[in-house]
Amino acid sequence: MPELPEVEIVRQSLQKKIRDKIIEKVLVKNRNLRFKIHSKFESHLQKKKIKKIDRFSKYLIFLFEDKSGFSIHLGMSGTIHLYDLNKKNIFTNTSFYSSPILPKIHNHVEIQFNKLKFIYNDPRRFGYFLTFNNKIELKKKFSHFGPEPFSKSFCIDYIIKHLKNKEKNIKSFLLDQKFVSGIGNIYANEILYNSKIRPFRKAKSLTKDECKKILLYSKLVLKKAISKGGSSIRDFQNINGTMGNFQKEFNVYQRENLNCLKAKCKGIIKKKIISNRSSFFCNYCQK
Ligand SMILES: [Zn+2]
Repeated sequence: MPELPEVEIVRQSLQKKIRDKIIEKVLVKNRNLRFKIHSKFESHLQKKKIKKIDRFSKYLIFLFEDKSGFSIHLGMSGTIHLYDLNKKNIFTNTSFYSSPILPKIHNHVEIQFNKLKFIYNDPRRFGYFLTFNNKIELKKKFSHFGPEPFSKSFCIDYIIKHLKNKEKNIKSFLLDQKFVSGIGNIYANEILYNSKIRPFRKAKSLTKDECKKILLYSKLVLKKAISKGGSSIRDFQNINGTMGNFQKEFNVYQRENLNCLKAKCKGIIKKKIISNRSSFFCNYCQK
């Protein structure tokens, strides 16, 4: 499942490739994604020039010159492929999480630019497309979300205020998009590991120093993931779209029964299911 850093890498990759390009043709092969693609989707995009590709949380936002645009959520398995019409069989997969080979099935949406085709593939169909006519409509779509980890409003006072007297565990808070936007299961595990806080601790039990660590590592862990992924962007241009070394960078996620990687820590990584999600933590240094 793509998380914020992966979506950011896709954004950077698309920004390089399709900015300032004009949409010539839109072909929707299957409207039945998580939410049905609007019947006016094709006409909404027709002949529009892509001014900028933005991102909020895990949403890619395609802004047109006239301030209208559309947004994509990649869901569980959505990937975007760019097919170079000049070189025929050469294409670029914008996501380093998936196979570099253009799938033969589940290509639900195609957007054609001059000499370039954008293909949206999604086997599980949990992804979706949204359209908007202006900035106010766009803002409204994300009004129920909490701040992103990088946002100024995600500050120590906000965190303390939000977690005060709360019985719910801290892991669930990090996954709650109303508290903070864009942190998924992998990075919630990593942030808590770096902060030395056990995932099932009640939010109200966190000290101010621990809240400060949550703030610091929410930013650092995501930034590091983006820079690691970003360094593999060059690979998108050639066919050998290797998985990227990114997944090897996890310190705690999916490291059950392995030694803790922190210097001088003798702990072992344990796994526990919390709110139906796998939580990994060190049984020694995470308190
Ligand atoms: Zn440890």
